Amino acid sequence: MTEARNPMAGLTTAAVQAQDSAHYLHPFTDTKALAETGSRIIVRGEGIYIEDSEGHRIIDGMSGLWNVNLGHGRRELADAAFKQTMQLSFYNSFFQTSNVPAAQLASEIAGVAPSHMSRVFYTNSGSEGNDTVVRMVRRYWDLMGQPQRKILISRHNAYHGSTMAGASLSGMSSMHEQGGLPIPDITHIQQPYFYELGQDMTPEAFGLKAAGWLEEKILELGADRVAAFIGEPVQGAGGVIIPPSTYWPEIQRICRKYGVLLVSDEVICGFGRLGTWFGCQHFGVQPDLITFAKAVTSGYFPLGGVIVGDKVGDVLVEKGGDFNHGFTNAGHPVGCAVALETIRLLKEEHVIEYVHDTLALHLASRFNALADHPLVGVTETLGMVAGLVLVKDKATRKHFDESLSVGMICRKHCFASGVVMRAVGDRMIIAPPLVMSLAQVDEMVALIRKSLDLTYAELQAGGHV
Ligand SMILES: *Cc1c(COP(=O)(O)O)cnc(C)c1O
Repeated sequence: MTEARNPMAGLTTAAVQAQDSAHYLHPFTDTKALAETGSRIIVRGEGIYIEDSEGHRIIDGMSGLWNVNLGHGRRELADAAFKQTMQLSFYNSFFQTSNVPAAQLASEIAGVAPSHMSRVFYTNSGSEGNDTVVRMVRRYWDLMGQPQRKILISRHNAYHGSTMAGASLSGMSSMHEQGGLPIPDITHIQQPYFYELGQDMTPEAFGLKAAGWLEEKILELGADRVAAFIGEPVQGAGGVIIPPSTYWPEIQRICRKYGVLLVSDEVICGFGRLGTWFGCQHFGVQPDLITFAKAVTSGYFPLGGVIVGDKVGDVLVEKGGDFNHGFTNAGHPVGCAVALETIRLLKEEHVIEYVHDTLALHLASRFNALADHPLVGVTETLGMVAGLVLVKDKATRKHFDESLSVGMICRKHCFASGVVMRAVGDRMIIAPPLVMSLAQVDEMVALIRKSLDLTYAELQAGGHV
């Protein structure tokens, strides 16, 4: 595949697994359980494929972790990092200094962002971006003379990161249980999950109803205490929850009615995933702040930040003084150079137009055909995200017993068949690279169908279907 030589540094798979399980505490992982099976060691990537240390070639159906949107092994991105490293490997942005790529990138991002957003605050990750959001919106309301507006409203089953504020904004009880979260003045409403909660409503009616839960919460808390609402245009880690088309415009109407800031966490949706530069553009809303990270560098360098709308940005700048917040590596010149090259490639290769006009439609037609499978309760796609639900009974939407971990069974068969799918409970999800060919979509979906068949056979053998 690539030219990289000796990717195992002369070690066997077992030796790397031994180092890994003895010394590496993995994120979101049961270390004891992992030590028993051993990690799968990924050694190479090229295009949409990754390869493990045993030589298995696997379609990277999750684009790494929602970030390698341009595929693996792009020389242009490596060259951009190399050149910038030799030019200026690092300098900080704290004390009235800047660097060329950081300034250029902020200008580029302002150019592709919605037109009312012209400033960027850099972080190293999406989690830090959302921590920044919490501090920035509270700072804004302080400057506006309404310091009592401190509460941020988020949603159950949202994912906004793993730092104290990011995990608090996230709506996952398994995260809140560990570490005494959420921190004060963060609260949650129900998610717009039509398949589970829509009952006999139309999607459009359900979208309005789900947005209405925000209005109820604002009225319960008192509008003068609410600083902002935050949501992912499409919930990613929660299992690719695609809201009905009516949801976001109604959320925006409610935010404006009560003067509540609207924050779009675009860490997944940003930079083309839904066939638009940002997910909010697909849904037709104009947020006050956008969090970004992941795909801004196609995953080749850790970089994130907050795009600041002029309503907030003008106040921070005109009335502000110091914003006492920032990260050493903010505006890292190498990361910014890689991001600039990522944006250049997205533009020059018309990647987002390709997703919008061609690729996403093809993915939808192929992926939705999986709905005829006896295990599949529903399929949903938008742009280059897709999800399906594994059910015991399609007609009654009966779930499998949770203890069966049916998603993990399916995930195992996917890996073995040569495609990465992520399991979120009994939802199986993908977010493949934006640079796939149509034939590669067909190849991927055929492997998913094969994995569903193998999952069905295993469940049948165990007497579960
Ligand atoms: C991944 C993710 C984050 C956190 O980003 P990190 O870079 O992992 O800190 C925040 N929000 C969303 C929507 C994400 O998908």
